[in-house]
Amino acid sequence: MDYICGRIYMGIIQHACIGIEDGKIVEIKKVVERKAKDYGDVIILPSGIDVHVHFREPGYEYKEDFFTGSRAAAMAGITCVLDMPNNKPPILSKNAFNEKVRKIETKACIDYGLYAGIKERAYDVDCIAYKTFLSSDNEIFCSPEKIQDVLKEVKRARKPIAIHAEMEECIERRNAKNLEEHERNRKKDCEIMGIKEVLEINKDIGAKIHFCHVTLPEAVGLINGKASFGSTLHHLLFSIQSKFGYQAMGKVNPPLRKEEERRRLYEMFVNGKIPILESDHAPHLMKEKEGFEDAKAGMPGVDALLPIMLYFVKTGRISLKRLVGMVSENPARLLGINKGSIAIGKDADLIIVDLNDVKKVKPISKCGWSCYEGMNAIYPRHVWMRGNIVVEDGIAKWPMGERVK
Ligand SMILES: [Zn+2]
Repeated sequence: MDYICGRIYMGIIQHACIGIEDGKIVEIKKVVERKAKDYGDVIILPSGIDVHVHFREPGYEYKEDFFTGSRAAAMAGITCVLDMPNNKPPILSKNAFNEKVRKIETKACIDYGLYAGIKERAYDVDCIAYKTFLSSDNEIFCSPEKIQDVLKEVKRARKPIAIHAEMEECIERRNAKNLEEHERNRKKDCEIMGIKEVLEINKDIGAKIHFCHVTLPEAVGLINGKASFGSTLHHLLFSIQSKFGYQAMGKVNPPLRKEEERRRLYEMFVNGKIPILESDHAPHLMKEKEGFEDAKAGMPGVDALLPIMLYFVKTGRISLKRLVGMVSENPARLLGINKGSIAIGKDADLIIVDLNDVKKVKPISKCGWSCYEGMNAIYPRHVWMRGNIVVEDGIAKWPMGERVK
């Protein structure tokens, strides 16, 4: 058995030693007789789980692929991601799903689960969850009259479903020349309407729902324990008033909101009302962001989320307890996976963090840019996954991820 000792977060920080066997935590005690790796004064936390990334493979590997995306995640302290199904081809069948698995399974540096796209019928695959869009931004579009069928199908499959809840009928498909016009086209009501509709239909079905990237305080109030939800870092930190190199770098769906709305969402985050932080890491090349009207929506983020949040902990904006809840414990609970906390029986997924080691965000994703570039951040020094070192002194190791189902 290997032992790691140090100042370990288990609700509070205390000095202890973790015994690891076959990738799992099998012992936690104050002192060990045998030789152990002692990390001294730095802190040891559970590593992060990001329930929402687009690693672009298959189909758009020029923006990101499963190796570069998972390596970027690892270097930023994330050791499990859930990858979205809007690939080329879209993951809408057992065949497409299995083909994707075949392509990526030797390339993942960290553990990963895959969403299966659903627009009507479920299909029998070992996905971690399903995903659908109420907006027709891609092929995985669920029209209002199909929502009921979709919820029944996922209930029968006993898997959660993640929903992009902007209602198509509310979206205005006009050209937008800037962030303000983009927000006007996809106004608040579209998100509110989508969430209301789904919750109403699900009353009698009881499917396990996760609303992706909630941007509005009103939406948080509406969900109120009836479903899981997460918010992204970009909706917490940026608004349509924010300045970017190219404005389209801030073009995302759902859109960045007005500054006063962003501030209210941020208040909720500070007050512990946001259960899950997700990156919605959606890289595009910088040259795809030059013009606004034709720019694809989405920005990278898996390579910055946890480091920025660790800096927020250092500066007292949020507590360590709240951070671990949002990026480790709650995502693990949503997915029912054996990760997300330092406890006996859990996977030994750990980050070793020196809160005094403040750096500036630099993009790690293949796309080569980040809206967070230059912000203060604390990157983990070492990252362990199932008892293996996947990042050592900030350098990522070879692929060793396994699929969670
Ligand atoms: Zn997304």
